[in-house]
Formats: sequence, C-alpha cells, structure tokens
Amino acid sequence: MSKILETCPNFIGGEWLLSPLATTPVHNPSTGEVIAECPVGSVADVNAAVAAAHAAFPAWMETPPVERARILGRFKMLMEDHFEELVRSNTRENGKTLVESRGDVKRGMEVVEFALGVPSLMMGEVLENMARGIDCEAIRQPLGVCVGITPFNFPAMVPLWMYPIAIACGNTFVLKPSEKVPLTAIKIARLFEKAGLPKGVFNLVHGGRVVVDALLTHPQVKAISFVGSTPIAKYIYETGTKHGKRVQSNGGAKNYVILMPDADVENSTRGVIEAAFGCAGERCMAGSTAVVVGGAAKSVLPALIEATKRIKVGPTDREAQPDMGAVITRQHRDRVLELIETGVKEGAQIPADGRGVKVSEAPNGFYVGATILDHVQTGMKVANEEIFGPVLNVMHMEDLDRAIELANQSVFGNGASIFTRSGKAAREFKHRVNCGMVGINIGVPASMAWFPFNGRNDSFFGDLHMQGREGVQFFTQQKVTTSRWFSYGEGDIWHR
Ligand code: NAD
Repeated sequence: MSKILETCPNFIGGEWLLSPLATTPVHNPSTGEVIAECPVGSVADVNAAVAAAHAAFPAWMETPPVERARILGRFKMLMEDHFEELVRSNTRENGKTLVESRGDVKRGMEVVEFALGVPSLMMGEVLENMARGIDCEAIRQPLGVCVGITPFNFPAMVPLWMYPIAIACGNTFVLKPSEKVPLTAIKIARLFEKAGLPKGVFNLVHGGRVVVDALLTHPQVKAISFVGSTPIAKYIYETGTKHGKRVQSNGGAKNYVILMPDADVENSTRGVIEAAFGCAGERCMAGSTAVVVGGAAKSVLPALIEATKRIKVGPTDREAQPDMGAVITRQHRDRVLELIETGVKEGAQIPADGRGVKVSEAPNGFYVGATILDHVQTGMKVANEEIFGPVLNVMHMEDLDRAIELANQSVFGNGASIFTRSGKAAREFKHRVNCGMVGINIGVPASMAWFPFNGRNDSFFGDLHMQGREGVQFFTQQKVTTSRWFSYGEGDIWHR
C-alpha cells in the first residue's frame, strides 16, 4: 500500500494554497523514504506573496511595538505547547537526533524571546539643545517587505534568526525555506497564524532557484536575509544589492579547533567530538579541523580516535536514539564518501573509518559513520573544501603561532576554538585568530540570540549580522529629525 505524502502549501495573505506545479521529493534521511512533495514554485507565487506582504505593511507598521510584542509572546507560548511536535518534525525531515532537534527549536525560540524586547530595542536617541533652542532625535522605522531564504541544516532555528526580529520591528515577511526541509517551517507558520498575526504579515513560499531569483529582483522587496553555502551566499549578496536591497548573507565555513599540549584530555575530547560530529557534521559551526599542537598528538589525539570509533550511527525517527543520525540526502552522502576517498588518495591516514557503516534497522537511510582523516596537509582538497558531513580532519603543528597561521589561511571565517590550560595562549589565540566567533575550552560556539551570529571573510557577505542588536539595525532604518520652535510673543499659550 502506498503511503500518503504530506503536501507543502504556500501561506500567502493568510490563506494556505497548494501550488499546482511540479514538486520535488522530501526525504526522511533516517529511512530514505519520501515523506512529502515540495513545489518547485513560480514567479506568480512570489508576486502573490510579496503583494500580500506589501498590502499588510502599512497597518502592521502602525501597530504599536508593544502590541506586536504581545502577538510574538503568544507565538512563543504556542511553540512551547507544541515543542515536541516541532522537534519530531525537525528530526523526521532533517535526520538529526531528538536531542539535537530540541536544541535547534530551543535556539530558535530564544530569538523570539529576544524580539519580545522590541519596544526597548527600537528606542531611538534624543539630544536636547543640539544647538541653542534646537533639539535632535533619531528614531528607527521598519523597511517594508523583507525576505528570508534558508538552508536544510537547521529547519527551525535558521528561519527564526530572521522573521521574529523583522516582524517585531514592524516589517512584513516572506520566507522561502529549503526545499529539502519544508515541513517544520509550515508547522511553525501555523502557530504564528494561531497566535493572531494579521493576514499577510508572514508569508511562506516554497521552491528553488526560480523563486529565489524572483524574490531577489522584486521591486517591492526591501531586504534579504540568506543562509546557505558560500557560492549561493555570494550570488544572493551580489544580485540583491545590485537590485537595491539591503542584504545579510551567511555562507559556508571550515572551523579550526586548536588542541594545545596542556589541554584537559577528557574535556577537550568531549568538546571536539560534539563540535565535529554533532548534527552529523552538517553545521556551519562544525569543528571540522582539529589542529594538534606538539604533545597533544600523544595525549588528546588517541582519546579522540577511540571516542570517534565508539559513535553509533542510526535512525533518529524512533524512541531508541543513536549518537548520530544520517546526512540529508543520498547525493550528499555520496559526495561526503567521495571526499573521504579523495583525502585518502591524497595521502591522509584514516584511523576512524566511517565509510562502510551498516545500519541494519534502516538499510536505505543516508548514513556515513564518524570518520577521522589524520595528517591532512594544506593544499589537499579536504583541507580546503567544506565537507559538511561527519568527517574530522586532523592537522599537526609544532606550536601555537603555526596553528593560528594555519587557521588564518582559510577563506572562511565563522568560528574557531582553543583547548588549553594557559590563559596566555588563550588570549593570544582570541586576539589573533581571523574569524568572528571564538571558543575557549568549548567547541566552536554559535552565538546565542542576544549576540550577533558573527561570521566574516567568505562566511558572511554584508554589514549587519543576524540576531542581537545588529539584527534590529538590519531590519530598521533611522530617521533624524531636527526641530526648532519659535516664540510668538504675547500670544504663546504659556503666557496666558
Ligand atoms: P544551499 O546554498 O544549497 O541552499 C540554501 C538556500 O539557497 C536554499 O533555500 C536553496 O533553495 C537556495 N538555493 C540553492 N541553490 C540555489 C541557486 N543556484 N540559486 C538560488 N537559490 C539557491 O545550502 P544548503 O545545502 O541548504 O545548506 C548547507 C550550507 O549552508 C553549508 O554550506 C553551511 O555551512 C551553510 N550554513 C551557513 C550558516 C551560517 O550562518 N553561516 C548556517 C547554516 C548553514
């Protein structure tokens, strides 16, 4: 008996509409089954969604920030009530473990918590007597229709980096989630609708390149937030800015974890394992290269290899949970396996080999076992390319200076970490490493909602990052008013 597939309706102007167009399959990576069909989308869908958002903007902009925050508050409560449902949806379409999905949804909810402070966050500045009798004030106003385009790896959190802040600031929004994971975005949109958000303030359009291009060039779109791979992030930034939009565009990464000879073995092993293999390595903050400095090769590295070999991979869509789930698609699994092969051919050793992993309870799932490539050298393909799978490169350096030099050769610049007992080494590293988010005795740390998600170099294109106060700045424009009032003599009311 064939299973009924879930549909992926667009949400436009408060209506749930099924697109009559062709679809692409959405898989459960744990089993390889097709679970839904996602429409490829069209220019007409984009035009309808932007028109709805444009029409809703004037009334939403005039809604007092306190009232906007109250709706967000109800949305947050509904997310709490439906937390486990969102978590399971996230795991089913992405493949990550339930624990990881709980983190994904929770981190997204924290952005809603941050955005609840919008009446304070949007406050402007005033200076009385800028010149004699002249006062000056700067206020923040929303931009209009804003757009979010998101990747597959955090179906809940990444879209939530964008629209709670945009909407709290008085903008209206069109989200295009990844066509590989459209289902959790739909569930969250249903909660926003239930919270009482006016029609057209938040809209959802599914699809791929045609939809993205129509959003990037639409004259009524004012700002674009993008998260995805570097080539597409660059394309979005260039095309969006060329069409006069404000753009913040997060790209891919390759993050370095420095293991100093004095690093605590147990804590640093745990930190690197989580950083490298959490979410099956499909994180832009994955610690994908361990730089083993001097004696750490004899202390931390053997423990790291043993811990990697113990990682159990398996299906995450059931109660018994493995340590690590599948990767997103069959094609992506094949690409990761091919890159491991390339690394070995280029001369890397493979002390933990996840290539032949067998998962008997889910033989058609997209699995790669946890893998370590040791003695990776600069210039190898695996040293430079983002693998985005459960593969940890190990490189050996004789001292901290060379380790920092190595990390700074990367074209990317999301995050880096150091494990050490030396405050001096940690300070030196924090000061000199060329990336935007730094960890000290902690796996590569993604900023929480109150701080900017702070990539640099080819990991970020734009000026204002997502989350935190920069998020508020991105979704608002300032207006500066300078005023002077004259005295009209005896007729002035205060003289009466
Ligand atoms: P992706 O770039 O393939 O897709 C991201 C979005 O762009 C999707 O919505 C997709 O539909 C759209 N898209 C894809 N190809 C397109 C094209 N040719 N033209 C227009 N639109 C296109 O990324 P992905 O595979 O979904 O996600 C993984 C990537 O995202 C990794 O590189 C990862 O590092 C990155 N990422 C970065 C961050 C960050 O904050 N820096 C966070 C999460 C993921």
